[in-house]
Amino acid sequence: MEFGTKLIHGGISEDEFTGATSIPIYMASTFHQNKIGEGKYEYSRSGNPTREAVEKLIADLEGGNDGFAFASGSAAINTVFSLFSAGDHFIVGNDVYGGTFRLINSVLKRFGMTFTIVDTRDLEAVKQAITPETKAIYLETPTNPLLRVTDIAAVADIAKQHGVLSIIDNTFASPYIQRPIELGVDIVLHSASKYLGGHSDVIAGLIVTKDPELGEQIGFLQNAIGGVLAPQESWLLQRGIKTLSLRMQAHLKNAQAVFDYLNKQPMVSKIYYPGDPENPDYEVAKKQMHGFGAMISFELKPGLDPKAFVEQLRVITLAESLGAIESLVEVPAVMTHGAIPRDIRLQNGIKDELIRLSVGIEDQADLLADLAHAFQYLGD
Ligand SMILES: *Cc1c(COP(=O)(O)O)cnc(C)c1O
Repeated sequence: MEFGTKLIHGGISEDEFTGATSIPIYMASTFHQNKIGEGKYEYSRSGNPTREAVEKLIADLEGGNDGFAFASGSAAINTVFSLFSAGDHFIVGNDVYGGTFRLINSVLKRFGMTFTIVDTRDLEAVKQAITPETKAIYLETPTNPLLRVTDIAAVADIAKQHGVLSIIDNTFASPYIQRPIELGVDIVLHSASKYLGGHSDVIAGLIVTKDPELGEQIGFLQNAIGGVLAPQESWLLQRGIKTLSLRMQAHLKNAQAVFDYLNKQPMVSKIYYPGDPENPDYEVAKKQMHGFGAMISFELKPGLDPKAFVEQLRVITLAESLGAIESLVEVPAVMTHGAIPRDIRLQNGIKDELIRLSVGIEDQADLLADLAHAFQYLGD
């Protein structure tokens, strides 16, 4: 089955009891057992048919064997780290989601785990950071907000050679654009609150594994920790996922048009977009991504006020989050990355004048006109 068909017919796409072409929302906490232990489901934390449908679907889409759905991307990330123990060491990408850094610094370190932060694009640096205690390499690609791209297959290889797990947060790409398990990665996770849900109406997280033993461990932890996705949200997520292919095609077209526009705009001093042939990561992006994604970050020329710019936009919505049908814009320094001390943020390359744009699927002419209007305001 091709990817676009899997979105519609993959996983469990119809109700086996009624033939309903939309999986029913099974609002049940427990299930009648005719004989003890014989039923398919026992209790909804350990298994619910609506949740199982979306879990089977994401496993199909990512090319894995087992899928798991959680109440948020953050709950999924915490569940993955719960595979490990005090004394274990991890290599983590230097530009990962802020909430992941918060989890590492404020929670996991208290449990005795240790972390080395590296730019995972630098494969030598990744190898150098491995110690006898290292248990996993954890990264995002493209990253947030600088859209840096790491060679997934190369990192998966390093992990295999050293007997450690590779874990990728695939939120910024979605399985339409890249499927890390097919490139040798052990665990893929998502904030499904972004492209997979796609409509800014659900908070959810997903994990996919290929190795059945690893799947069993994650399944155990999902039930033991209990941060599961509720039936209503599971249904809404599956409903959103069905149109991923159509949405991504529209996102990609618009992103290319916005990039071309920004590239000619004299008030823009720098653009971060993996599809920019001048971008140092362009070749790696071309090799492993089907399309360059729809996230674009850019810097205004010094002296121009990024807050005034984003507040002038009318079609493009000023808001955190990304991956939705509506275009979203934000200023990382004072919004998504505002909690990072300024000197550390600047060290990581996130300048005050950086703007992050999640290009939506509105009509292109309206997006370009909106940007033109805000630039005109800055120029006046
Ligand atoms: C949003 C996000 C998360 C956290 O997901 P929630 O669903 O908000 O808990 C994790 N990783 C990335 C890359 C994200 O963008």
